[in-house]
Amino acid sequence: MLRRHPWVFSGAIARTERTGAAGDTVRIVAQDGRALGIAAWNPDANISARIWDWDENTPIDASFFVNRLERAIRMRRELSARGPHEAERLVHAESDGLPGLIVDRYADVIVLQISSAGCHRWRETIIDSLQQLTGARAIYERSDADVLELEGLAPRTGLVKGRLDSPIVEVIENGMRLRVDVASGHKTGFYLDQRDNRLQVGQLAADREVLNCFSYTGGFTLQTLAHGAARVTSVDSSAEALRLAREHISLNEMPQDRCDWVDADVFEYLRRLRDHNRRFDLIILDPPRFAPTAASAERAARGYKDINLLAFKLLRPGGLLATFSCSGGVSADLFRKIVAGAGLDAGCTVQILKQFHAAMDHPVLLTFPEGEYLKGLLCRID
Ligand code: SAH
Repeated sequence: MLRRHPWVFSGAIARTERTGAAGDTVRIVAQDGRALGIAAWNPDANISARIWDWDENTPIDASFFVNRLERAIRMRRELSARGPHEAERLVHAESDGLPGLIVDRYADVIVLQISSAGCHRWRETIIDSLQQLTGARAIYERSDADVLELEGLAPRTGLVKGRLDSPIVEVIENGMRLRVDVASGHKTGFYLDQRDNRLQVGQLAADREVLNCFSYTGGFTLQTLAHGAARVTSVDSSAEALRLAREHISLNEMPQDRCDWVDADVFEYLRRLRDHNRRFDLIILDPPRFAPTAASAERAARGYKDINLLAFKLLRPGGLLATFSCSGGVSADLFRKIVAGAGLDAGCTVQILKQFHAAMDHPVLLTFPEGEYLKGLLCRID
């Protein structure tokens, strides 16, 4: 608390003055009576309170939300001024002062996800303000993340404002046309956090044979092809994601004959490639979250070690591995150690050429390390 971390765990609370309902606004006071801040209360969750503001006198009303949303949106405009057909994260929860609220813009469609009792209480205000601030054609709710359960909230999805004739929204990312399924795509429909990394990894792909593992709808596949990859194999266990990825190839007039699509479990497929002595010049590993919390970090570590070790073995000399982790429970330091262990066991000499993070529209509040969930390493072997 004193370090301005925005969560108050149930174990840290000595006394509550009265029993409030989930989403109520409460004051947080230290043992010695000093006011610490004003927060949203949730008696049903392990995180009992999420801080709205460190000044206990800040009124938590409609204008508070308008101001916070406005501030978040303005910051994006100042930094990058993304065009009307592009996609961006407008609100990144705790790190934008709105715990449990994610807002993504896909062209003129807004998708929001509410995963805290506090933001749930102010849901109507938030939706109305977003409509006013962005002038969106439609607002779609995707409050269906696994973390909702921890807050005691029921999942909620569907159109909340405007009109949407199709759930497929087309956006432009780094010059590529992408179709985002806001109703049934993963998260809010797409992985915006990897935007810059897709471009940077793509720029290294010229004349290389690429293996894109956990490809989803082909974000990395498109960028590697656009930069002249010799051949790209995309692997994912979701047939629907692969279908959309193939559609993206023709939509962007990329060469279909340089693409291979594999509907498989990456853990098994990498073994098959190893057994067949296949080799690649650039491998991308962008798995789903293995560890949402620190408690599951050990199991996750085994998963990361496994795929990274196999990937190192499949690289030709001079080959590159772009490897990512989006597990909040695995720190950047731990991830690096896991990858180092994998390199050693594979018998490779590994250089780190670059470290990756989420794009700038996913800020990390300095007092909230949990916000830094995405990390990646660009490795090269001799
Ligand atoms: N790189 C992608 C995002 C990857 S998200 C992008 O740039 O957009 C993780 C992907 O892994 C999802 O598409 C999911 O379907 C897939 N996935 C999850 N577990 C898998 C497994 N064991 N084998 C193969 N794919 C898996």
